[in-house]
Amino acid sequence: MTGRPSPPPPPRAPAPYRPDLARVALVFVLLSLLALVLAPLLVHQRIDRLRDHVDFTVEPARGNVTEIQYYLARKMAALRGYMLTDDPRFLERYNQVALQERQVRDELRPMAQALGPDALRLFAHLDLLSDQWAERLASDPSTLLEAGAEPFVQAQLYDEMANTAAALDQALAAVSRDSRTVIREVERVYLRVTVVLVLLAVGAALVVGWIGHRVRVLGDEAGRALHEAHRLMEDRSRLLRGITHDVKNPLAAADGYAQLLELGIEPLSSRQTGWVAGLRRSLRGALGMIDDLLELDRAGSADIQLARQEVDLGMLLREVSADHSGAAEAAGHKLGVLVPDVPVRVSTDRGRVMQILSNLVGNAIKYTPAPGDIRLVADRIEDEGEGEWAVVQVRDNGPGIPPHEQERIFEEFHRLEPGEPGGHGVGLTISRRLASALGGRITVDSAPGEGSTFSLWLPPGGG
Ligand code: ADP
Repeated sequence: MTGRPSPPPPPRAPAPYRPDLARVALVFVLLSLLALVLAPLLVHQRIDRLRDHVDFTVEPARGNVTEIQYYLARKMAALRGYMLTDDPRFLERYNQVALQERQVRDELRPMAQALGPDALRLFAHLDLLSDQWAERLASDPSTLLEAGAEPFVQAQLYDEMANTAAALDQALAAVSRDSRTVIREVERVYLRVTVVLVLLAVGAALVVGWIGHRVRVLGDEAGRALHEAHRLMEDRSRLLRGITHDVKNPLAAADGYAQLLELGIEPLSSRQTGWVAGLRRSLRGALGMIDDLLELDRAGSADIQLARQEVDLGMLLREVSADHSGAAEAAGHKLGVLVPDVPVRVSTDRGRVMQILSNLVGNAIKYTPAPGDIRLVADRIEDEGEGEWAVVQVRDNGPGIPPHEQERIFEEFHRLEPGEPGGHGVGLTISRRLASALGGRITVDSAPGEGSTFSLWLPPGGG
């Protein structure tokens, strides 16, 4: 086909859903609750670790140091007793106590690693002094009694060992104190965090509650508005049914009588014939208006019945063209059809598409000044991600429609020239509703003085 259309893009999917305030508040409450559950677990884990360290390492280590101090004193006392009395029982006691002291030091050694650098250094020093002490005495402390023994040096070594043990005890006391201070600090921070989390959770719960309340209130209002809208629609339909019965039928009867007069059963003067023709025109106009109103009401109802079938839009356009060729010719227009070689098939309601296109072609004929050029075009347009849309266009070279009017002409009873005969301003409203029921839509591309192109978009797969 020639002159491929460049229509506006087909309808797109609605904008993605964004989380609203209620969701954010709900997430906030959940996070606060999660934090309330996790915080005590983490804090207690940390406190338990510190307590275990104090209870199972620091305090037992302090006990060991006290024992070492005690054994040192006893060792020294035994040694003195031996040196004064030369009684071998003192020597025996000395050896026994020295063994116990070594055992306690061996117990303390692995713990010293976990007691911090100060304690580790002091323990290593104590170990060293003990080794020196042992070296001095060699295996037999009786050498102390011999000439050349140095009891004073030994006493000095003992003092240093006792001082180191005391310093080690103090270092361990400091470790214990520091750990307890940290425990208290962690507990204080935990308390504050808990208070803040509870306040946040309560705040967020209040926000959620308030939003829930607002949603309920708005939901109620929307429900009432919907109910009211249904009631008004119902009233409108009832009114239209009333018009049909009470106005349309008598008007049709009056038209029948006017027709009899026109047929000349009783001869009429030429003036009377003109009046009767005028009378019939008015009656047909009123009947047409009522038909349009009824059609508008039907197109507005939620349950438009659709009968889908496979439709070749090219063939359908030729039919529409044939139906309107007489009117187009009478109005002095050219009416042509442009379809691609490959059939444009779509699953849709044939009757509804005909109805829409008849209205669009009728308008083109009505609003284009003679001699006009009207074309009916069918094509397929690929839409990224959504597949191929079928598009049918009615193009004319009429007066065009100003941009600010291009949406308004689809509103009920809106016309560019309200006084102009031949319409009631509902055809496009009906067409757009039907198009939407078919899963498609109608768009217009026009500029004043450059004609108009009305496009009916039918979705891939028939909607
Ligand atoms: P009606 O034709 O009965 O007035 P429609 O709803 O079909 O009602 O059209 C609404 C208005 O849009 C028309 O009154 C006319 O002003 C304008 N319009 C529709 N089709 C065309 C067209 N092809 N060219 C120019 N104006 C148009």
